[in-house]
Formats: sequence, C-alpha cells, structure tokens
Amino acid sequence: MNTVEYKINELFETIQGEGAFTGQPSIFIRLQGCPVACSWCDTKHTWEIELEDKVTKEQIIAKTQETSQWASFSPEQILSLFKVQGFKAKHIVITGGEPCMVDLTPLCQTLEKAGYSCQIETSGTFDVRTTKDCWVTVSPKVNMRGGYEILASAMKRANEIKHPVATEQHVDDLKSLLAKHKVTNTPVYLQPISQKQRATELAIATCIENNWRLSVQVHKYIGIE
Ligand code: SF4
Repeated sequence: MNTVEYKINELFETIQGEGAFTGQPSIFIRLQGCPVACSWCDTKHTWEIELEDKVTKEQIIAKTQETSQWASFSPEQILSLFKVQGFKAKHIVITGGEPCMVDLTPLCQTLEKAGYSCQIETSGTFDVRTTKDCWVTVSPKVNMRGGYEILASAMKRANEIKHPVATEQHVDDLKSLLAKHKVTNTPVYLQPISQKQRATELAIATCIENNWRLSVQVHKYIGIE
C-alpha cells in the first residue's frame, strides 16, 4: 500500500490528441501545480496549489468546468476510481500542470501492475521520476517566465519531444536545445500553437525540412477535451 498522495485537478477519459499516441483512448490524470509560466498555457488554472482550493474526491470526479480546485488521491484510490467510473481505456496520460514536480514512480508502478500503460507529459524542467516502462513526452518550454532550465536528464529520458511552435524563434530554440543535449534519435513532433494558420504552415514546412512529425492537437479539431 502506498502512502503517497497526488494532488489531482481533473480525471477523465478521452482520446489522446497529441504526439505518438494520437488516437489512443486514454485516461487523463491532471495534476495541480506548475511554476513554469508559459504565456500561451491553456491550463493556467492548474498553476497554483492553494489550500483553500482543496475539495473532496467526489467534487473532482463531478467537475464539469476548468477550476483550480484539487483533491488528494493515493494510487490505489485512483485505480479504484477507474473501475467505479467504468473507464475502458488502458492507457494513462499523466499531465498537468507540471507532473514531474512529484515522484510519479509509485503511481505508475500501481497502474502498470494493474495492466495499464503510462505516459507522462512534462515540460522537461524537473527530473522525471517514474518507471522504466513509462512513456515520457517532453514538451520543452524554453525561456519561460518562471525561469526554469530544460534539464539534460529530462531530454535524455524523453521517448518523444513535442514542441509548440508559432514563430521561427521557436524552431531555432528547439534546434539549439537538440544540439545542446545531443538529441539525434528521439522522434520530434511540432505542434502549431492555438491552431493558427501561420503556425500550422510553419510547422508543416519545418517538419518536411527536418524529417520531424506534425502533431495537430486532434482533440481541438473534433471538439473533445
Ligand atoms: S509547463 Fe505546461 S502547465 Fe506549465 S505553464 Fe507551461 S504549458 Fe502551462
């Protein structure tokens, strides 16, 4: 039995819309807390962990709107919740917020033991603490307001690198980062920011030029969470 608990903002079943697992039915676990402060962040409600926002597990499960409310769950409570909710997906996406602010090993061990595959989506600014079989998606957030550096350990652990782009500067930042950390074989996905036409055109051209892959946030096009 684990004594560790995780601060969860949201827990829901959907289709993974990004990166290598696009199209995969998945259970998303969104953790509360992120100090990275990306200007375009679409989950700003997950940034702060305020005690006054702590609610019951039932309130988190019943959530229908984006709020900064969170509740503590142990890995076993998360697992039993999947059964209560009748979730069918066998792939888990642990996201945030910044999930790697905490050690995810106990959570992933529990889930993997129960037959689930795990994926973490992280900004690469914290050490990735998880199981060896967990799929790690690093979406490096370079020069953000929070002032965090991308860690060499996170870049090394990445199974895929997913980079948001809107401008040439974003592409240059990514190329510098890959060169700095000598990343050559990890698949790279470019993701146009906010589905903007110019960002999408830039991403397509850059993917073709560098033999990278395009990730278009399918869930936003088909109108699911
Ligand atoms: S790392 Fe993710 S959650 Fe944190 S500010 Fe950036 S986009 Fe938002």
